[in-house]
Amino acid sequence: MNSPDEDQILDAISRWLERDVRPQVKELEHADRYPESMVATMKEFGLFGATIPREYGGLGLPAGTYSKIVTRISEVWMSLTGIFNSHLIMASAVTRFGTEAQKEAFLPRFASGELRGGLALTEPDCGTDLQAIRTRAVRDGDDYVINGTKTWISNGIHGSCFALLVKTDLEAEPRHRGMSLFLAEKGPGFTVSRKLEKIGYKGIDSAELIFDNYRVPASSLIGEAEGRGFHHALGGLELGRINVAARGVGVANAALKDSVRYAQLRKTFGKPICEHQAIQLKLGEMATRCEAARLLVENAARIYDAGERCDMEAGMAKYFASEAALENSTEAMRIHGAYGYSTELDVERYYRDAPLMCIGEGTNEMQRIIIARQLVARNPA
Ligand SMILES: Cc1cc2nc3c(=O)[nH]c(=O)nc-3n(C[C@H](O)[C@H](O)[C@H](O)COP(=O)(O)OP(=O)(O)OC[C@H]3O[C@@H](n4cnc5c(N)ncnc54)[C@H](O)[C@@H]3O)c2cc1C
Repeated sequence: MNSPDEDQILDAISRWLERDVRPQVKELEHADRYPESMVATMKEFGLFGATIPREYGGLGLPAGTYSKIVTRISEVWMSLTGIFNSHLIMASAVTRFGTEAQKEAFLPRFASGELRGGLALTEPDCGTDLQAIRTRAVRDGDDYVINGTKTWISNGIHGSCFALLVKTDLEAEPRHRGMSLFLAEKGPGFTVSRKLEKIGYKGIDSAELIFDNYRVPASSLIGEAEGRGFHHALGGLELGRINVAARGVGVANAALKDSVRYAQLRKTFGKPICEHQAIQLKLGEMATRCEAARLLVENAARIYDAGERCDMEAGMAKYFASEAALENSTEAMRIHGAYGYSTELDVERYYRDAPLMCIGEGTNEMQRIIIARQLVARNPA
């Protein structure tokens, strides 16, 4: 059951989605154009501060409410959620691990959307194995000097501040002890080298970032202590995985909704295709996946909101919901026949967007490994 506040927020967002977003998605998506006016409305809704505590200007929403917002938006255009999600993961690193001065300096500007950005972890040579990163920060007086390349960074072009994972000690063993996380605002030495082209997840920019003798003040090192960056970056990924799972539910739901409608309108052999058993089997499986994925997301969000460790539950939700989006989008395409392959309907977009959720915030191969490790750790023989 939703709280009255939650209902109010979800209703307002749903009205905006139907009135202003749905009619424009196809055009913006196919042109791969950044949705400036939608970003302005998302600022007004306070979405850039959705999970930032109220004392720093955010809405202070629990992960449970936040994930419902993400699902609702993803039912209409999944790309929009990417504009504020990795931004909020950056904010959560500051909230959880930043000094009081860092919280005061950054969180209100993140919450208003004045300063937007995301996470810069991945490099051309490594994504899953983050401890192999090569971007280097070297202390120089009151600053650090950073050199390296980050790639696939969401909001890389339109964002202006990133939680940047670097190596501060190349010799550290284990390797993660030599890693640190900085808040890096764009400035001299920090450039966008190129926009990356994708099959889906259009409208939101993914970019390669170059750091060439980029100077950042030591006060921008999150927590002002070297060697904790890996822990700080991974700490935010639980919320990130709940978010990706919530997106998966949104795309899976959208594929189901379109299919249920189309299956009643399309007739073959004298009856609507929803009366053919082969189509009924698909719809039954699709609806069950949606429901199971939603419950897994709710469960992970509940544990996260209780302040408990939820890497296993967030991993299960992320794994299952993203696979549900992939399977439902494929089935929706089959149910729509040739129209599913047309760029005039939305089904083809779900089909192009869904695979991203199996890769982002830790691949689904890694999610299953995380789940298994936690299973063993929680159940010693
Ligand atoms: C559209 C998009 C947006 C993104 N946004 C961001 C962003 O904002 N910030 C950011 O930092 N990154 C971002 N990424 C990068 C994303 O997080 C990485 O792509 C992801 O972590 C996987 O890393 P990789 O691509 O280097 O794959 P690799 O690590 O090279 O993995 C390749 C394959 O090997 C498998 N594999 C790797 N190691 C193991 C293992 N130990 N056991 C079993 N299988 C393994 C993987 O599951 C995968 O199937 C984005 C990516 C995309 C496509």
